[in-house]
Amino acid sequence: MTQRPNGYLVGLIGTGVGPSLTPALHMAEGRAQGLDYVYRTIDLDTLQIAPNRIGEVLDWVRTLGFDAVNITHPCKQIALAHLDRIDPAAAALGAVNTVRFTPDGTVGHNTDTTGFAHGFVEGLPDAPVDDVVLVGAGGAGTAVADALLRLGVGHLTVVDVDVDRATQLAAALAERHLLAHVDASSFDKLSVLLPAADGVVHATPMGMAEHPGIAFDPALLHPRPERSLRSDHKPWVADIVYRPLDTALLQAARAAGCRTLDGGHMAVHQAVDAFALITGITPDAERMSRHFRRLVAIPS
Ligand code: NAD
Repeated sequence: MTQRPNGYLVGLIGTGVGPSLTPALHMAEGRAQGLDYVYRTIDLDTLQIAPNRIGEVLDWVRTLGFDAVNITHPCKQIALAHLDRIDPAAAALGAVNTVRFTPDGTVGHNTDTTGFAHGFVEGLPDAPVDDVVLVGAGGAGTAVADALLRLGVGHLTVVDVDVDRATQLAAALAERHLLAHVDASSFDKLSVLLPAADGVVHATPMGMAEHPGIAFDPALLHPRPERSLRSDHKPWVADIVYRPLDTALLQAARAAGCRTLDGGHMAVHQAVDAFALITGITPDAERMSRHFRRLVAIPS
């Protein structure tokens, strides 16, 4: 419930949220749109509040006049039980990252999944998606998988070092995307899967500054010669890691002749979509992207 004309009070609830770039991103766009837009982090670690008290925290911030909050690790799933309504994409995923406090109650959304989809269409237009491999079946991988299937991926193979996790995710995806072929596989099958795929999305923490390296052998990215003859069959590699933006995987992928998409697209578009939901105003995605790329270049 906004108390100031053009005013928005928004928060980010989670653990370790202090270094997040999201507050700066939202506030700069709010200013550029002529809004009085305040965005604060609510760090459960710092406040010594257990994540399972997310329902109380949501009550508090609503009472204190927040218009909306973003929700991040480890509350994206446990927040669901404390909402009045959940939009279909978030309900399918079983996770929310944006909660709006409306006169009709609290409404949950998931802009990780819409943000990946929008970023993919923006950064890899016309990329073939008949056969895609997803490496990483955690929270972000789940949001990406749903986005890929909504984008029309015909065959999605989910791979994770935790094979049970990959199997469970593939089964859940197959249940809610009846027209697609979804299965799980193990890491040692990547040597067969990757050369035959149109593209691969990487969604593990590998490649982040604190987890350097590449999750799989980049030599597997070299396409089969008969595929590379047709430029529309150029394989693509999307990384969702965004710190750094140009990961070792993306560098290797470019060297192997692949089209690439960095994790900044998902990060920006989850913020773009959240800003639009919160304010009803379509933000300038290009301006937010330029701002994000400046912020991410500053050493944390
Ligand atoms: P998570 O911990 O929920 O899941 C990570 C998954 O990766 C797990 O299933 C784990 O078994 C698997 N894994 C870990 N190390 C691996 C390895 N070496 N090889 C293969 N699989 C491995 O984490 P998450 O929330 O899904 O986030 C994953 C990464 O995605 C983050 O570290 C972050 O860099 C990135 N991320 C980006 C955005 C964005 O907007 N671009 C948003 C969220 C997360």
